Amino acid sequence: MPSFKIYRGVAGLYDYGPPGCAVKSNVLAFWRQHFVLEEGMLEVDCPCVTPDVVLKASGHVDKFTDLMVKDEKTGTCYRADHLLKDFCKEKLEKDLTLSSEKAAELKHVVAVLDDLSPEELGAKLKEYGITAPDTKNALSDPYPFNLMFQTSIGPSGLLPGYMRPETAQGIFVNFKDLYYYNGNRLPFAAAQIGQAFRNEISPRQGLLRVREFTLAEIEHFVDPEDKSHPKFADVAELEFLMFPREEQLSGQSAKKIVLGEAVSKGTVNNETLGYFIGRVYLFLTHLGIDKEKLRFRQHLPNEMAHYAADCWDAEIECSYGWIECVGIADRSAYDLKAHSEKSGVALVAQEKFSEPREVEVSFFPNIWSLLLGEVEFNVCTLGKTVSIKKNMVSISLEKKKEHQRVFTPSVIEPSFGIGRIIYCLYEHCFYTRPSKAGEEQLNVFQFPPLVAPVKCTVFPLIKSKEFDDVAKEIAKSLRAAGISHIIDITGTSIGKRYARTDEIGVPFAVTVDSTTNVTIRERDSKNQIRVNTNEVASVVKEVIDGQSTWADIMWKYPAHHTAPTANEE
Ligand code: AMP
Repeated sequence: MPSFKIYRGVAGLYDYGPPGCAVKSNVLAFWRQHFVLEEGMLEVDCPCVTPDVVLKASGHVDKFTDLMVKDEKTGTCYRADHLLKDFCKEKLEKDLTLSSEKAAELKHVVAVLDDLSPEELGAKLKEYGITAPDTKNALSDPYPFNLMFQTSIGPSGLLPGYMRPETAQGIFVNFKDLYYYNGNRLPFAAAQIGQAFRNEISPRQGLLRVREFTLAEIEHFVDPEDKSHPKFADVAELEFLMFPREEQLSGQSAKKIVLGEAVSKGTVNNETLGYFIGRVYLFLTHLGIDKEKLRFRQHLPNEMAHYAADCWDAEIECSYGWIECVGIADRSAYDLKAHSEKSGVALVAQEKFSEPREVEVSFFPNIWSLLLGEVEFNVCTLGKTVSIKKNMVSISLEKKKEHQRVFTPSVIEPSFGIGRIIYCLYEHCFYTRPSKAGEEQLNVFQFPPLVAPVKCTVFPLIKSKEFDDVAKEIAKSLRAAGISHIIDITGTSIGKRYARTDEIGVPFAVTVDSTTNVTIRERDSKNQIRVNTNEVASVVKEVIDGQSTWADIMWKYPAHHTAPTANEE
Protein backbone atom coordinates (compact mmCIF):
# COMPACT_ATOMS: atom_id res chain seq x y z
CA MET A 1 0.00 0.00 0.00
CA PRO A 2 1.27 3.54 -0.66
CA SER A 3 2.68 4.89 2.61
CA PHE A 4 0.97 7.86 4.25
CA LYS A 5 -2.01 7.26 1.97
CA ILE A 6 -4.45 9.44 3.92
CA TYR A 7 -2.11 12.36 3.17
CA ARG A 8 -1.97 11.31 -0.52
CA GLY A 9 1.27 9.39 -0.08
CA VAL A 10 4.82 10.08 -1.26
CA ALA A 11 6.19 8.60 -4.51
CA GLY A 12 8.56 5.69 -3.91
CA LEU A 13 7.43 4.89 -0.35
CA TYR A 14 5.26 1.84 0.32
CA ASP A 15 3.95 -0.10 3.32
CA TYR A 16 3.65 -3.85 3.58
CA GLY A 17 0.20 -4.86 4.79
CA PRO A 18 -0.42 -7.95 6.96
CA PRO A 19 -0.01 -10.67 4.26
CA GLY A 20 2.93 -8.82 2.65
CA CYS A 21 4.63 -8.53 6.02
CA ALA A 22 4.23 -12.26 6.63
CA VAL A 23 5.61 -13.11 3.16
CA LYS A 24 8.59 -10.80 3.73
CA SER A 25 9.32 -12.34 7.09
CA ASN A 26 9.18 -15.86 5.53
CA VAL A 27 11.51 -14.80 2.67
CA LEU A 28 14.01 -13.36 5.15
CA ALA A 29 13.80 -16.44 7.40
CA PHE A 30 14.57 -18.64 4.39
CA TRP A 31 17.42 -16.30 3.33
CA ARG A 32 18.97 -16.73 6.78
CA GLN A 33 18.56 -20.49 6.60
CA HIS A 34 19.80 -20.86 3.00
CA PHE A 35 22.79 -18.52 3.28
CA VAL A 36 23.71 -17.53 6.85
CA LEU A 37 23.10 -20.91 8.48
CA GLU A 38 24.19 -23.09 5.55
CA GLU A 39 27.52 -21.28 5.08
CA GLY A 40 28.17 -20.33 8.72
CA MET A 41 28.14 -16.63 7.81
CA LEU A 42 28.70 -13.95 10.42
CA GLU A 43 25.58 -11.80 10.59
CA VAL A 44 25.87 -8.18 11.71
CA ASP A 45 23.40 -5.35 12.19
CA CYS A 46 24.75 -1.82 11.66
CA PRO A 47 23.08 1.59 11.82
CA CYS A 48 21.29 3.17 8.85
CA VAL A 49 22.64 6.63 9.78
CA THR A 50 26.21 6.71 8.53
CA PRO A 51 28.81 9.46 9.01
CA ASP A 52 30.05 11.28 5.92
CA VAL A 53 33.63 9.96 6.22
CA VAL A 54 32.57 6.34 5.59
CA LEU A 55 30.64 7.16 2.43
CA LYS A 56 33.35 9.57 1.29
CA ALA A 57 35.87 6.71 1.50
CA SER A 58 33.57 4.29 -0.34
CA GLY A 59 33.10 6.79 -3.17
CA HIS A 60 29.34 7.30 -2.61
CA VAL A 61 29.62 11.01 -1.71
CA ASP A 62 31.35 11.78 -5.00
CA LYS A 63 29.97 9.18 -7.34
CA PHE A 64 26.59 7.80 -6.21
CA THR A 65 24.75 9.98 -8.71
CA ASP A 66 22.29 9.77 -11.56
CA LEU A 67 22.05 12.39 -14.29
CA MET A 68 18.95 14.52 -13.88
CA VAL A 69 17.09 16.98 -16.11
CA LYS A 70 14.37 19.43 -15.06
CA ASP A 71 11.27 20.62 -16.85
CA GLU A 72 12.30 24.24 -17.39
CA LYS A 73 8.85 25.59 -16.55
CA THR A 74 7.44 23.31 -13.83
CA GLY A 75 10.72 22.14 -12.27
CA THR A 76 9.64 18.45 -12.43
CA CYS A 77 12.73 16.21 -12.37
CA TYR A 78 13.47 13.24 -14.62
CA ARG A 79 16.31 10.78 -15.01
CA ALA A 80 18.04 11.87 -18.20
CA ASP A 81 19.12 8.35 -19.23
CA HIS A 82 15.59 7.00 -18.73
CA LEU A 83 14.12 9.66 -21.04
CA LEU A 84 16.68 8.87 -23.72
CA LYS A 85 16.22 5.10 -23.33
CA ASP A 86 12.39 5.37 -23.47
CA PHE A 87 12.65 7.52 -26.61
CA CYS A 88 14.97 5.06 -28.39
CA LYS A 89 12.93 2.00 -27.39
CA GLU A 90 9.65 3.56 -28.49
CA LYS A 91 11.11 4.58 -31.84
CA LEU A 92 12.56 1.11 -32.35
CA GLU A 93 9.27 -0.60 -31.48
CA LYS A 94 6.76 1.72 -33.12
CA ASP A 95 8.38 3.69 -35.94
CA LEU A 96 7.96 1.50 -39.00
CA THR A 97 9.63 4.07 -41.27
CA LEU A 98 12.94 3.85 -39.37
CA SER A 99 15.93 3.23 -41.68
CA SER A 100 18.29 0.41 -40.77
CA GLU A 101 21.10 2.96 -40.09
CA LYS A 102 18.89 4.95 -37.73
CA ALA A 103 17.76 1.76 -35.96
CA ALA A 104 21.40 0.71 -35.52
CA GLU A 105 22.23 4.16 -34.14
CA LEU A 106 19.37 4.03 -31.59
CA LYS A 107 20.39 0.53 -30.50
CA HIS A 108 23.94 1.75 -30.05
CA VAL A 109 22.74 4.70 -27.92
CA VAL A 110 20.84 2.27 -25.63
CA ALA A 111 23.93 0.06 -25.35
CA VAL A 112 26.30 2.88 -24.35
CA LEU A 113 23.81 4.84 -22.21
CA ASP A 114 25.76 4.19 -19.00
CA ASP A 115 28.94 5.58 -20.53
CA LEU A 116 27.61 8.94 -21.69
CA SER A 117 28.93 12.07 -19.98
CA PRO A 118 26.42 14.80 -18.94
CA GLU A 119 27.42 16.77 -22.05
CA GLU A 120 26.98 13.80 -24.41
CA LEU A 121 23.63 12.89 -22.87
CA GLY A 122 22.46 16.52 -23.13
CA ALA A 123 23.51 16.66 -26.78
CA LYS A 124 21.55 13.49 -27.60
CA LEU A 125 18.41 14.78 -25.83
CA LYS A 126 18.66 17.96 -27.91
CA GLU A 127 19.42 16.12 -31.15
CA TYR A 128 16.32 13.90 -30.76
CA GLY A 129 14.14 16.83 -29.62
CA ILE A 130 13.23 15.11 -26.33
CA THR A 131 11.02 17.23 -24.05
CA ALA A 132 9.39 16.75 -20.63
CA PRO A 133 7.05 13.74 -20.99
CA ASP A 134 4.16 15.30 -19.03
CA THR A 135 4.15 18.87 -20.39
CA LYS A 136 6.31 18.78 -23.54
CA ASN A 137 8.24 21.73 -22.08
CA ALA A 138 11.96 22.17 -22.77
CA LEU A 139 14.40 20.38 -20.47
CA SER A 140 17.47 21.70 -18.64
CA ASP A 141 20.94 20.32 -19.37
CA PRO A 142 21.65 17.07 -17.45
CA TYR A 143 23.55 17.35 -14.19
CA PRO A 144 24.56 14.81 -11.54
CA PHE A 145 22.19 14.35 -8.60
CA ASN A 146 23.45 12.45 -5.54
CA LEU A 147 20.92 9.78 -4.56
CA MET A 148 21.76 9.73 -0.85
CA PHE A 149 19.45 11.30 1.75
CA GLN A 150 21.66 13.73 3.63
CA THR A 151 21.29 14.43 7.32
CA SER A 152 23.39 15.70 10.20
CA ILE A 153 24.18 13.70 13.29
CA GLY A 154 23.63 15.37 16.67
CA PRO A 155 22.20 18.80 17.49
CA SER A 156 25.20 20.92 16.48
CA GLY A 157 24.78 20.12 12.80
CA LEU A 158 28.56 19.79 12.57
CA LEU A 159 28.75 16.08 11.84
CA PRO A 160 27.34 15.43 8.37
CA GLY A 161 25.88 12.04 7.63
CA TYR A 162 23.69 10.11 5.22
CA MET A 163 21.07 7.39 5.37
CA ARG A 164 23.03 4.40 4.02
CA PRO A 165 22.40 3.59 0.34
CA GLU A 166 23.51 -0.04 0.93
CA THR A 167 24.32 -2.18 3.96
CA ALA A 168 27.73 -3.36 2.69
CA GLN A 169 29.81 -0.50 4.12
CA GLY A 170 28.86 -1.51 7.68
CA ILE A 171 30.51 -4.87 7.01
CA PHE A 172 33.66 -3.48 5.36
CA VAL A 173 34.42 -1.09 8.22
CA ASN A 174 34.07 -4.01 10.65
CA PHE A 175 36.40 -6.28 8.67
CA LYS A 176 39.18 -6.31 11.26
CA ASP A 177 36.91 -7.45 14.10
CA LEU A 178 35.09 -9.97 11.92
CA TYR A 179 38.37 -11.48 10.71
CA TYR A 180 39.52 -11.77 14.32
CA TYR A 181 36.15 -13.27 15.32
CA ASN A 182 36.65 -15.84 12.59
CA GLY A 183 39.99 -16.89 14.09
CA ASN A 184 42.01 -14.85 11.56
CA ARG A 185 41.03 -17.29 8.85
CA LEU A 186 39.89 -16.79 5.27
CA PRO A 187 37.61 -17.30 3.47
CA PHE A 188 34.59 -16.21 5.47
CA ALA A 189 31.42 -14.31 4.78
CA ALA A 190 29.55 -11.67 6.71
CA ALA A 191 25.89 -10.89 6.08
CA GLN A 192 23.48 -8.12 6.87
CA ILE A 193 19.77 -7.51 6.36
CA GLY A 194 18.55 -3.93 6.67
CA GLN A 195 16.95 -0.87 5.19
CA ALA A 196 18.68 1.07 2.39
CA PHE A 197 17.72 4.53 1.24
CA ARG A 198 18.04 6.02 -2.25
CA ASN A 199 16.43 9.30 -3.21
CA GLU A 200 15.43 8.01 -6.66
CA ILE A 201 14.81 10.85 -9.11
CA SER A 202 11.50 9.70 -10.56
CA PRO A 203 10.43 6.34 -9.11
CA ARG A 204 8.05 5.16 -11.82
CA GLN A 205 8.21 1.39 -11.65
CA GLY A 206 5.79 0.94 -8.73
CA LEU A 207 7.22 -1.39 -6.12
CA LEU A 208 10.39 -2.03 -8.12
CA ARG A 209 12.05 1.37 -7.78
CA VAL A 210 11.41 2.76 -4.33
CA ARG A 211 13.18 5.22 -2.05
CA GLU A 212 13.50 2.95 0.98
CA PHE A 213 13.90 -0.80 0.66
CA THR A 214 15.23 -3.89 2.39
CA LEU A 215 18.57 -5.20 1.23
CA ALA A 216 20.09 -8.50 2.24
CA GLU A 217 23.80 -8.49 1.49
CA ILE A 218 26.65 -10.96 1.75
CA GLU A 219 30.32 -10.01 1.67
CA HIS A 220 32.41 -13.13 1.13
CA PHE A 221 36.08 -12.39 1.79
CA VAL A 222 38.54 -14.55 -0.09
CA ASP A 223 42.25 -14.75 -0.90
CA PRO A 224 42.65 -13.08 -4.33
CA GLU A 225 45.16 -15.80 -5.24
CA ASP A 226 42.72 -18.63 -4.50
CA LYS A 227 39.10 -18.14 -5.44
CA SER A 228 38.24 -21.84 -5.55
CA HIS A 229 35.24 -22.93 -3.47
CA PRO A 230 35.17 -26.23 -1.54
CA LYS A 231 31.42 -26.68 -2.15
CA PHE A 232 31.39 -25.73 -5.82
CA ALA A 233 30.73 -29.37 -6.81
CA ASP A 234 27.32 -29.09 -5.05
CA VAL A 235 26.11 -26.57 -7.66
CA ALA A 236 28.29 -27.42 -10.69
CA GLU A 237 25.63 -29.54 -12.37
CA LEU A 238 22.85 -26.97 -12.19
CA GLU A 239 21.69 -25.84 -15.60
CA PHE A 240 19.77 -22.60 -16.06
CA LEU A 241 19.39 -19.51 -18.24
CA MET A 242 22.60 -17.53 -18.45
CA PHE A 243 23.24 -14.48 -20.60
CA PRO A 244 27.00 -14.00 -21.00
CA ARG A 245 28.52 -10.80 -22.36
CA GLU A 246 29.31 -12.27 -25.81
CA GLU A 247 25.71 -13.39 -26.39
CA GLN A 248 24.43 -9.92 -25.46
CA LEU A 249 26.88 -8.15 -27.74
CA SER A 250 26.13 -10.42 -30.69
CA GLY A 251 22.37 -9.96 -30.33
CA GLN A 252 21.60 -13.52 -29.15
CA SER A 253 19.32 -14.37 -26.25
CA ALA A 254 19.97 -16.07 -22.91
CA LYS A 255 20.51 -19.83 -23.10
CA LYS A 256 20.63 -22.76 -20.71
CA ILE A 257 24.20 -23.36 -19.58
CA VAL A 258 25.62 -25.84 -17.08
CA LEU A 259 27.18 -23.77 -14.31
CA GLY A 260 30.27 -26.01 -14.02
CA GLU A 261 31.00 -25.49 -17.73
CA ALA A 262 30.53 -21.71 -17.45
CA VAL A 263 33.20 -21.67 -14.75
CA SER A 264 35.63 -24.11 -16.40
CA LYS A 265 35.45 -22.17 -19.68
CA GLY A 266 36.10 -18.91 -17.84
CA THR A 267 32.72 -17.37 -18.77
CA VAL A 268 32.20 -16.94 -15.03
CA ASN A 269 35.44 -15.54 -13.58
CA ASN A 270 35.96 -17.93 -10.65
CA GLU A 271 34.47 -20.78 -8.60
CA THR A 272 33.40 -18.67 -5.64
CA LEU A 273 31.44 -16.30 -7.87
CA GLY A 274 29.99 -19.36 -9.64
CA TYR A 275 29.08 -20.97 -6.31
CA PHE A 276 27.06 -17.94 -5.28
CA ILE A 277 25.33 -17.75 -8.68
CA GLY A 278 24.24 -21.38 -8.13
CA ARG A 279 23.10 -20.74 -4.56
CA VAL A 280 21.13 -17.66 -5.63
CA TYR A 281 19.44 -19.76 -8.35
CA LEU A 282 18.43 -22.37 -5.75
CA PHE A 283 17.23 -19.69 -3.33
CA LEU A 284 14.99 -17.94 -5.87
CA THR A 285 13.49 -21.08 -7.40
CA HIS A 286 12.81 -22.53 -3.94
CA LEU A 287 10.85 -19.41 -3.09
CA GLY A 288 8.61 -19.98 -6.11
CA ILE A 289 10.27 -17.87 -8.83
CA ASP A 290 9.57 -19.44 -12.23
CA LYS A 291 12.78 -21.03 -13.63
CA GLU A 292 11.89 -19.93 -17.16
CA LYS A 293 11.58 -16.31 -16.06
CA LEU A 294 14.91 -16.18 -14.29
CA ARG A 295 18.23 -15.51 -15.99
CA PHE A 296 21.73 -14.57 -14.91
CA ARG A 297 23.01 -11.70 -17.02
CA GLN A 298 26.68 -10.80 -17.07
CA HIS A 299 27.54 -7.10 -16.90
CA LEU A 300 28.92 -5.56 -20.08
CA PRO A 301 32.35 -3.97 -19.62
CA ASN A 302 30.79 -0.48 -19.55
CA GLU A 303 28.38 -1.43 -16.71
CA MET A 304 31.08 -2.72 -14.37
CA ALA A 305 33.10 -0.57 -12.03
CA HIS A 306 36.76 -0.45 -13.17
CA TYR A 307 37.89 -2.47 -10.14
CA ALA A 308 35.32 -5.29 -10.53
CA ALA A 309 36.58 -8.64 -11.81
CA ASP A 310 33.16 -9.91 -12.97
CA CYS A 311 29.47 -9.21 -12.22
CA TRP A 312 26.27 -11.14 -12.86
CA ASP A 313 22.72 -9.98 -12.13
CA ALA A 314 19.91 -12.38 -11.34
CA GLU A 315 17.15 -10.87 -13.48
CA ILE A 316 13.54 -11.90 -13.12
CA GLU A 317 10.97 -11.33 -15.84
CA CYS A 318 7.74 -9.67 -14.78
CA SER A 319 5.23 -7.28 -16.36
CA TYR A 320 7.90 -4.53 -16.28
CA GLY A 321 10.38 -6.64 -18.29
CA TRP A 322 13.59 -8.26 -17.01
CA ILE A 323 14.38 -6.73 -13.61
CA GLU A 324 17.65 -6.92 -11.69
CA CYS A 325 16.76 -8.47 -8.34
CA VAL A 326 20.14 -9.74 -7.11
CA GLY A 327 23.55 -8.34 -8.08
CA ILE A 328 26.46 -10.78 -7.67
CA ALA A 329 29.81 -9.04 -8.05
CA ASP A 330 33.47 -9.82 -7.56
CA ARG A 331 34.53 -6.39 -6.27
CA SER A 332 38.21 -7.36 -5.87
CA ALA A 333 39.98 -5.56 -2.98
CA TYR A 334 38.52 -2.12 -3.74
CA ASP A 335 36.36 -1.50 -0.66
CA LEU A 336 38.80 -2.74 1.98
CA LYS A 337 41.66 -0.78 0.38
CA ALA A 338 39.56 2.40 0.26
CA HIS A 339 38.69 2.16 3.98
CA SER A 340 42.27 1.22 4.91
CA GLU A 341 43.55 4.33 3.19
CA LYS A 342 41.00 6.71 4.67
CA SER A 343 40.97 5.33 8.22
CA GLY A 344 44.65 4.39 8.52
CA VAL A 345 43.58 1.01 9.91
CA ALA A 346 45.03 -1.88 7.91
CA LEU A 347 42.14 -4.03 6.72
CA VAL A 348 44.28 -6.97 5.68
CA ALA A 349 44.65 -10.71 6.14
CA GLN A 350 47.75 -12.83 6.71
CA GLU A 351 48.70 -16.16 5.30
CA LYS A 352 51.13 -17.83 7.71
CA PHE A 353 53.59 -20.10 5.90
CA SER A 354 54.17 -23.54 7.38
CA GLU A 355 57.85 -23.19 6.30
CA PRO A 356 59.48 -19.75 5.94
CA ARG A 357 59.77 -18.81 2.25
CA GLU A 358 62.77 -17.20 0.62
CA VAL A 359 61.92 -14.09 -1.39
CA GLU A 360 64.01 -11.63 -3.40
CA VAL A 361 63.79 -8.04 -2.19
CA SER A 362 65.25 -4.99 -3.91
CA PHE A 363 67.08 -2.24 -1.98
CA PHE A 364 67.57 1.31 -3.27
CA PRO A 365 70.49 3.47 -2.03
CA ASN A 366 69.64 6.47 0.10
CA ILE A 367 68.33 9.13 -2.26
CA TRP A 368 70.00 11.93 -0.25
CA SER A 369 73.47 10.64 -1.06
CA LEU A 370 72.73 11.16 -4.74
CA LEU A 371 72.11 14.87 -4.81
CA LEU A 372 75.30 15.83 -6.71
CA GLY A 373 76.68 14.49 -9.95
CA GLU A 374 76.30 14.46 -13.70
CA VAL A 375 72.92 14.65 -15.33
CA GLU A 376 71.49 11.30 -16.25
CA PHE A 377 67.80 11.70 -15.39
CA ASN A 378 65.72 14.18 -13.40
CA VAL A 379 63.73 13.34 -10.32
CA CYS A 380 61.30 15.68 -8.63
CA THR A 381 61.41 15.21 -4.87
CA LEU A 382 60.03 17.43 -2.12
CA GLY A 383 59.44 20.22 -4.62
CA LYS A 384 63.06 20.20 -5.88
CA THR A 385 64.26 18.79 -9.18
CA VAL A 386 67.50 16.91 -8.77
CA SER A 387 69.63 15.31 -11.44
CA ILE A 388 70.83 11.82 -10.86
CA LYS A 389 73.73 10.09 -12.60
CA LYS A 390 73.26 6.53 -13.69
CA ASN A 391 76.36 5.28 -11.89
CA MET A 392 75.04 6.72 -8.63
CA VAL A 393 72.16 4.29 -8.55
CA SER A 394 72.58 0.66 -7.71
CA ILE A 395 69.69 -1.69 -7.26
CA SER A 396 70.61 -4.81 -5.43
CA LEU A 397 68.50 -7.90 -5.07
CA GLU A 398 68.84 -9.65 -1.75
CA LYS A 399 67.31 -12.82 -0.38
CA LYS A 400 65.14 -12.63 2.70
CA LYS A 401 63.07 -15.15 4.68
CA GLU A 402 59.37 -14.40 5.09
CA HIS A 403 57.08 -16.14 7.52
CA GLN A 404 53.78 -14.80 6.23
CA ARG A 405 52.11 -13.03 3.35
CA VAL A 406 50.01 -9.95 4.14
CA PHE A 407 47.33 -9.03 1.62
CA THR A 408 44.00 -7.29 1.15
CA PRO A 409 41.25 -9.87 0.58
CA SER A 410 38.97 -9.76 -2.43
CA VAL A 411 35.26 -9.60 -1.79
CA ILE A 412 32.46 -11.36 -3.61
CA GLU A 413 29.14 -9.66 -2.96
CA PRO A 414 25.67 -11.04 -3.60
CA SER A 415 23.21 -8.20 -2.92
CA PHE A 416 19.47 -9.01 -2.77
CA GLY A 417 16.70 -6.45 -3.27
CA ILE A 418 14.11 -8.20 -1.10
CA GLY A 419 11.16 -6.02 -2.24
CA ARG A 420 11.88 -6.72 -5.91
CA ILE A 421 12.07 -10.46 -5.28
CA ILE A 422 8.75 -10.38 -3.40
CA TYR A 423 7.06 -8.34 -6.13
CA CYS A 424 8.17 -10.83 -8.82
CA LEU A 425 7.14 -13.73 -6.62
CA TYR A 426 3.63 -12.27 -6.33
CA GLU A 427 3.43 -11.99 -10.13
CA HIS A 428 4.77 -15.52 -10.72
CA CYS A 429 2.46 -17.09 -8.15
CA PHE A 430 -0.72 -15.33 -9.30
CA TYR A 431 -3.28 -17.00 -11.54
CA THR A 432 -6.98 -16.89 -12.20
CA ARG A 433 -8.63 -20.27 -11.76
CA PRO A 434 -10.89 -21.11 -14.69
CA SER A 435 -14.50 -21.23 -13.59
CA LYS A 436 -17.74 -22.54 -15.03
CA ALA A 437 -19.97 -20.19 -17.01
CA GLY A 438 -21.86 -17.81 -14.73
CA GLU A 439 -19.57 -18.38 -11.76
CA GLU A 440 -17.28 -15.81 -10.25
CA GLN A 441 -13.61 -16.14 -11.38
CA LEU A 442 -11.23 -16.87 -8.57
CA ASN A 443 -7.83 -15.31 -8.11
CA VAL A 444 -5.27 -17.58 -6.49
CA PHE A 445 -1.76 -17.00 -5.16
CA GLN A 446 0.04 -20.28 -5.65
CA PHE A 447 2.68 -19.54 -2.98
CA PRO A 448 4.86 -22.50 -1.95
CA PRO A 449 4.08 -23.38 1.68
CA LEU A 450 7.49 -21.93 2.64
CA VAL A 451 6.47 -18.36 1.76
CA ALA A 452 2.68 -18.45 2.12
CA PRO A 453 1.63 -15.65 4.53
CA VAL A 454 -0.77 -17.96 6.39
CA LYS A 455 -0.12 -21.69 6.26
CA CYS A 456 -3.48 -23.07 7.18
CA THR A 457 -7.14 -22.25 7.81
CA VAL A 458 -9.41 -24.16 10.14
CA PHE A 459 -13.18 -24.18 9.90
CA PRO A 460 -16.08 -26.36 11.00
CA LEU A 461 -18.19 -27.76 8.16
CA ILE A 462 -21.42 -26.79 9.88
CA LYS A 463 -22.13 -24.44 12.76
CA SER A 464 -22.15 -26.53 15.96
CA LYS A 465 -20.57 -26.14 19.39
CA GLU A 466 -18.96 -29.57 19.14
CA PHE A 467 -17.24 -28.78 15.84
CA ASP A 468 -16.28 -25.27 16.98
CA ASP A 469 -14.55 -26.78 20.03
CA VAL A 470 -12.59 -29.22 17.84
CA ALA A 471 -11.59 -26.34 15.52
CA LYS A 472 -10.34 -24.35 18.53
CA GLU A 473 -8.39 -27.36 19.80
CA ILE A 474 -6.71 -27.77 16.37
CA ALA A 475 -5.92 -24.03 16.27
CA LYS A 476 -4.27 -24.41 19.69
CA SER A 477 -2.06 -27.25 18.42
CA LEU A 478 -1.10 -25.19 15.34
CA ARG A 479 -0.15 -22.24 17.59
CA ALA A 480 1.98 -24.53 19.72
CA ALA A 481 3.79 -25.76 16.57
CA GLY A 482 4.39 -22.16 15.43
CA ILE A 483 2.15 -22.49 12.34
CA SER A 484 0.36 -19.33 11.24
CA HIS A 485 -3.34 -19.97 10.68
CA ILE A 486 -6.79 -18.42 10.49
CA ILE A 487 -9.73 -19.96 12.30
CA ASP A 488 -13.08 -19.22 10.67
CA ILE A 489 -16.18 -20.16 12.65
CA THR A 490 -18.46 -17.66 10.87
CA GLY A 491 -20.52 -20.38 9.23
CA THR A 492 -20.04 -18.95 5.71
CA SER A 493 -20.41 -21.54 2.90
CA ILE A 494 -17.44 -23.85 2.52
CA GLY A 495 -16.86 -22.81 -1.13
CA LYS A 496 -16.64 -19.14 -0.14
CA ARG A 497 -14.25 -19.93 2.68
CA TYR A 498 -11.96 -21.88 0.36
CA ALA A 499 -12.10 -19.03 -2.17
CA ARG A 500 -11.05 -16.47 0.45
CA THR A 501 -8.09 -18.53 1.58
CA ASP A 502 -6.98 -19.31 -2.00
CA GLU A 503 -7.03 -15.59 -2.72
CA ILE A 504 -4.34 -14.87 -0.13
CA GLY A 505 -2.46 -18.06 -1.00
CA VAL A 506 -3.11 -20.25 2.07
CA PRO A 507 -1.88 -23.73 1.04
CA PHE A 508 -3.91 -25.91 3.46
CA ALA A 509 -7.48 -25.83 4.72
CA VAL A 510 -8.65 -28.01 7.58
CA THR A 511 -12.38 -28.74 7.64
CA VAL A 512 -13.87 -30.13 10.82
CA ASP A 513 -16.63 -32.55 9.85
CA SER A 514 -16.27 -34.96 12.77
CA THR A 515 -14.95 -34.80 16.32
CA THR A 516 -12.28 -37.46 15.84
CA ASN A 517 -10.82 -36.92 12.39
CA VAL A 518 -10.86 -34.06 9.91
CA THR A 519 -9.96 -33.29 6.29
CA ILE A 520 -6.97 -31.32 5.02
CA ARG A 521 -7.34 -29.81 1.54
CA GLU A 522 -4.37 -28.68 -0.54
CA ARG A 523 -4.95 -25.44 -2.47
CA ASP A 524 -3.48 -26.28 -5.88
CA SER A 525 -4.60 -29.89 -6.42
CA LYS A 526 -7.74 -29.38 -4.28
CA ASN A 527 -7.15 -32.96 -3.08
CA GLN A 528 -8.21 -33.82 0.44
CA ILE A 529 -6.93 -36.34 2.96
CA ARG A 530 -8.36 -37.49 6.26
CA VAL A 531 -6.27 -37.35 9.45
CA ASN A 532 -6.86 -37.62 13.18
CA THR A 533 -7.44 -34.25 14.84
CA ASN A 534 -4.28 -34.62 16.94
CA GLU A 535 -2.13 -35.20 13.82
CA VAL A 536 -3.12 -32.04 11.92
CA ALA A 537 -0.29 -29.83 13.20
CA SER A 538 2.46 -32.38 12.57
CA VAL A 539 1.22 -33.18 9.03
CA VAL A 540 1.04 -29.49 8.05
CA LYS A 541 4.43 -28.81 9.64
CA GLU A 542 6.03 -31.68 7.73
CA VAL A 543 5.05 -30.07 4.42
CA ILE A 544 5.76 -26.44 5.26
CA ASP A 545 9.20 -27.36 6.61
CA GLY A 546 9.92 -29.15 3.33
CA GLN A 547 10.42 -32.61 4.93
CA SER A 548 7.60 -34.05 2.79
CA THR A 549 5.74 -33.00 -0.31
CA TRP A 550 1.96 -33.05 -0.55
CA ALA A 551 2.36 -36.08 -2.86
CA ASP A 552 4.19 -37.94 -0.03
CA ILE A 553 1.39 -37.04 2.36
CA MET A 554 -1.22 -38.30 -0.12
CA TRP A 555 0.47 -41.73 -0.01
CA LYS A 556 0.43 -41.88 3.76
CA TYR A 557 -3.17 -40.84 4.54
CA PRO A 558 -6.52 -41.90 3.13
CA ALA A 559 -7.98 -39.62 0.47
CA HIS A 560 -11.27 -37.90 1.20
CA HIS A 561 -13.76 -37.46 -1.64
CA THR A 562 -16.70 -35.05 -1.62
CA ALA A 563 -19.01 -33.68 -4.26
CA PRO A 564 -17.47 -30.42 -5.45
CA THR A 565 -18.98 -27.28 -3.95
CA ALA A 566 -19.54 -24.03 -5.84
CA ASN A 567 -16.20 -22.71 -7.11
CA GLU A 568 -14.60 -26.02 -6.27
CA GLU A 569 -14.59 -27.53 -9.76
P1 AMP B 1 22.87 -2.12 -6.38
O1 AMP B 1 23.70 -1.84 -5.17
O2 AMP B 1 22.45 -0.86 -7.12
O3 AMP B 1 23.40 -3.20 -7.28
O4 AMP B 1 21.49 -2.69 -5.80
C1 AMP B 1 21.43 -3.92 -5.16
C2 AMP B 1 20.03 -4.47 -5.27
O5 AMP B 1 19.12 -3.57 -4.62
C3 AMP B 1 19.51 -4.57 -6.70
O6 AMP B 1 19.81 -5.83 -7.25
C4 AMP B 1 18.02 -4.38 -6.54
O7 AMP B 1 17.41 -5.62 -6.29
C5 AMP B 1 17.88 -3.53 -5.29
N1 AMP B 1 17.56 -2.12 -5.57
C6 AMP B 1 18.38 -1.16 -6.03
N2 AMP B 1 17.75 0.01 -6.13
C7 AMP B 1 16.47 -0.20 -5.73
C8 AMP B 1 15.31 0.62 -5.59
N3 AMP B 1 15.33 1.92 -5.88
N4 AMP B 1 14.18 0.06 -5.14
C9 AMP B 1 14.13 -1.25 -4.83
N5 AMP B 1 15.19 -2.08 -4.93
C10 AMP B 1 16.35 -1.57 -5.37
